[in-house]
Amino acid sequence: MYDIAIAGGGVIGSSIAYHLTRSGRAGRVAVIEPDPTYEFASTPRSAGGIRRLFSLPENIQMSAFSLDFYLDFERLTAVNGDTTKLDFRRQGYLFLYPPEKLAVVEKNYAAQRQLSCPVHLLDRAGIARLFPSLGLNDIAAGVHSPEDGWMDPYSAVRGFRRKALAQGADYIKDRVVGVEVSGKRANAFRLAQGERIEAKVFINAAGAWAGEICQTIGMKLPIEPLRRLAFYFEIQQALEKLPLVKDLSGLFFRPEGVGYITGVPNMSEPAGINFDVDYDYFDNVVWPLLARRAPAFEALKVKRGWAGMYDQNRFDGNLLIGPWEGQVDNFHVAVGFSGHGLQQAPAVGLALSELVLDGRFSTIDLSRLRYRRVMDGTPVREEGIS
Ligand SMILES: Cc1cc2nc3c(=O)[nH]c(=O)nc-3n(C[C@H](O)[C@H](O)[C@H](O)COP(=O)(O)OP(=O)(O)OC[C@H]3O[C@@H](n4cnc5c(N)ncnc54)[C@H](O)[C@@H]3O)c2cc1C
Repeated sequence: MYDIAIAGGGVIGSSIAYHLTRSGRAGRVAVIEPDPTYEFASTPRSAGGIRRLFSLPENIQMSAFSLDFYLDFERLTAVNGDTTKLDFRRQGYLFLYPPEKLAVVEKNYAAQRQLSCPVHLLDRAGIARLFPSLGLNDIAAGVHSPEDGWMDPYSAVRGFRRKALAQGADYIKDRVVGVEVSGKRANAFRLAQGERIEAKVFINAAGAWAGEICQTIGMKLPIEPLRRLAFYFEIQQALEKLPLVKDLSGLFFRPEGVGYITGVPNMSEPAGINFDVDYDYFDNVVWPLLARRAPAFEALKVKRGWAGMYDQNRFDGNLLIGPWEGQVDNFHVAVGFSGHGLQQAPAVGLALSELVLDGRFSTIDLSRLRYRRVMDGTPVREEGIS
């Protein structure tokens, strides 16, 4: 019998396990994860970015907390002196906005400054001075967050997992296929290989696959698996040291090794698990946007592409955290990250461990992001570029 059982051992499930076992108050913790290599998990397929450029105070606070955590990751997750290197590059983020969005930029910027984020509002000339290779004809302003950056996401999940194991968590290589419920309480996870995992508290952190688990008990998550394509390309010439650049078309790019990682979300992508890589999409959609944003990208060579899954929250685009109140009170979710899970993982792991162990959030108040808002029909929307 476990005290707490977690479905999914990606960066979210493993951060929750890390924080629970670190507290010394969680009892026995099990993580059910079918694939210890994380081949198809979203975490290692992510772009690794972390930024404080959000509008919602909760999202800004989560990223600020997680940034400090990741900067200290080697120490916090060391096991007997062995450390996990995140390869953290603090090279900044730059969001670019057209003239008609100036009011939104100023509002978001004020929210970020109010929470002490070291961000700078720049006009077009200011952006051009810092980053002369960018094409800015359609741009009126930018927000530069020079101390944000990116990391190796695979190391993040490995580090959390290794430390959670060292602190006493059990990782069980299997897949949750059902949840046994009686009355308003869950009693056990049913696993694909026939085992039952009994516990007092259950947490669904299975990312893009979380909806399948919830369906088995009739809990409707407004979460869809959504394919996101990413590409790595190289160019001949050397540009100035660029941050992660993002604009309202959804285009992002950032330096990686001797080249760049890029992508543009496809809003009409059909929902469903799909790992096919579509290079026509690069040629027809991504490349023209890249060439507009940086003329040096007109001549480039794509070296590889990959697909990863977003756990897209169709209700309001933000994380859903906490129990299925009034229905199955000891069954929690931590899902719906919609592209922000890596940067929210340390904060969410701590927040959910507080909620489970103390019945309330102490460090960051995520009350507005509880799952309950879906039942109440009260969406909480992010107004920054998502
Ligand atoms: C292309 C791309 C770029 C991204 N860029 C960024 C970025 O720059 N910054 C950022 O913060 N986020 C980014 N993200 C989002 C980020 O990757 C995710 O939000 C985050 O990895 C979610 O972590 P997770 O642990 O919930 O999911 P996962 O890493 O997918 O982990 C879920 C785990 O659940 C397991 N599982 C599945 N089914 C079951 C089951 N039935 N029972 C038990 N376990 C199960 C899976 O094997 C998997 O390991 C990006 C995502 C993609 C696809």
